[in-house]
Amino acid sequence: MLKGKVAVVTGSTSGIGLGVARALAAQGAAVMLNGFGAEREIEEIRAGLERVSGAKAAHHPADMSKPSEIERLIEAAESKLGAVDVLVNNAGIQHVAPIESFPPEKWDAVLAINLSSSFHTIRAALPGMKKRGWGRIVNIASSHGLVASVQKAAYVAAKHGLVGLTKVVALETAGTGITCNAICPGWVLTPLVQKQIDALAARERLSGEAARRKLLAEKQPSGEFATPEQIGGLAVFLCSPAAEQIRGASLAIDGGWTAQ
Ligand code: NAD
Repeated sequence: MLKGKVAVVTGSTSGIGLGVARALAAQGAAVMLNGFGAEREIEEIRAGLERVSGAKAAHHPADMSKPSEIERLIEAAESKLGAVDVLVNNAGIQHVAPIESFPPEKWDAVLAINLSSSFHTIRAALPGMKKRGWGRIVNIASSHGLVASVQKAAYVAAKHGLVGLTKVVALETAGTGITCNAICPGWVLTPLVQKQIDALAARERLSGEAARRKLLAEKQPSGEFATPEQIGGLAVFLCSPAAEQIRGASLAIDGGWTAQ
């Protein structure tokens, strides 16, 4: 379905971003990876995408907290793979603390990576999409783009902001072949969440398994994690012709978290 298309997935060396990159490659897209990690592992991921897609794959190490590097990421995608058709804004970090002791520099970093980076990628990629009359922008928000939890001031603010940005871009592109939507995952077992499970286990002296169950029980009625593959599947659907009139939506994939 995505043969001949070029996708940029930010923060795609791990977790959800990697799941989305693999799902897009499985549809034939050429993929520009982004994110941190060991050079050899990233090269394995990149080569694996090329095998699956039969198209090119590349990696750019832009730090998504730095607007000038974000611009270079989009330029590199265009020069190495071609004009950007699919943009998935996924890079994100978490910091957990009560607001009175929330370090201001963590606030700035979470807002920069989880929200402002999407403004910068969209700004850079949209003119090309408009010229060609087709594009798909998928923002990986969160349940925390729809509801709040304690001790996540920056994350919840950034994800609510990303849901708002999604709506504005969807409206500004409503008369075109470009769509912009947000995916709002609940708990997905990735390194970002494993850190929170480890903290819970240490705090309450629980085994890893007991902490995992407790984390799920607090928020996610299904009692199961969503998976990067499932998020990838939804991103692929949003790129399909069937999704052409889904615009400005925030689609929960959260085991019932936000139905409560
Ligand atoms: P992860 O830690 O597994 O992956 C994060 C990715 O972002 C990695 O590739 C990392 O290298 C990259 N990254 C981090 N900082 C970066 C920076 N400054 N510049 C460039 N790349 C950077 O996390 P994940 O759980 O896969 O999270 C991916 C996205 O999904 C995030 O936006 C997160 O908020 C969102 N999300 C995750 C969950 C969950 O339960 N895991 C739930 C809802 C939303």
